[in-house]
Amino acid sequence: MRVAVVTVGDELLSGDTVDTNAAWLCDRLDERGVSVERVTTVPDRVADIARVVNEYRAEYDAVIVTGGVGPTHDDVTMDGVAAAFGREVVPNADAEAWLDDHGDYAVADLTAGTTHLPAGARMLPNPEGVAPGAVVESVYVMPGVPTEMKGMFETVIGEFEGDPTYVEEVRTSEPESALLDRIEAVREAFDVTIGSYPGEEVRLKVMAADAETAAAAAAWLRDRVDA
Ligand code: AMP
Ligand code: MG
Repeated sequence: MRVAVVTVGDELLSGDTVDTNAAWLCDRLDERGVSVERVTTVPDRVADIARVVNEYRAEYDAVIVTGGVGPTHDDVTMDGVAAAFGREVVPNADAEAWLDDHGDYAVADLTAGTTHLPAGARMLPNPEGVAPGAVVESVYVMPGVPTEMKGMFETVIGEFEGDPTYVEEVRTSEPESALLDRIEAVREAFDVTIGSYPGEEVRLKVMAADAETAAAAAAWLRDRVDA
């Protein structure tokens, strides 16, 4: 399964807020063997949201959009997603019913628009807050508040599945440029993908479709690089 993640928010683009939602989603999806192929951040602007959602829903099996969901003036994500499908944003009866049952307040008291979702959307209850999410075909729309996004994502995680990848890590004090020969050799000897991440030391990430191959390739490397 191939997925794109879209995070929405002017505050992400100005550097006021660190985009932890994207990193968390990538991690969770990667654990399940789902391939995240795009992470894109767009401003709180209907046309930008609609354009990128439209492009990605054509290209990927699913699109996950977070942020800009709620009743304030800059929460335009539902409008952007609806526009991507040529639909209206309309009151959603399931969202009203869910909030009536689960909230400490009457739906009538909520800010206008809280329960408005793209026409024909499947409503996603918010286990940690008020604003509901939505699924429109392959596009999942969730709030930006990290606890709410995480809680809501866990309710649909079963809809995201891929091929598990087995990962081993090998660390070495050698500089990356010195390792090229062994990286090439391990890729020839084993059916693995290698990631090379320099930092204080170089972290080699060994990925394979089965645990034995990952372990054997990592052992091969450990025997041949400086600790
Ligand atoms: P919003 O859904 O845009 O109303 O955002 C609600 C809160 O969640 C704000 O404090 C945002 O800064 C925060 N937030 C929104 N998107 C993200 C994100 N991608 N990563 C971390 N925090 C976020
Ligand atoms: Mg916002």
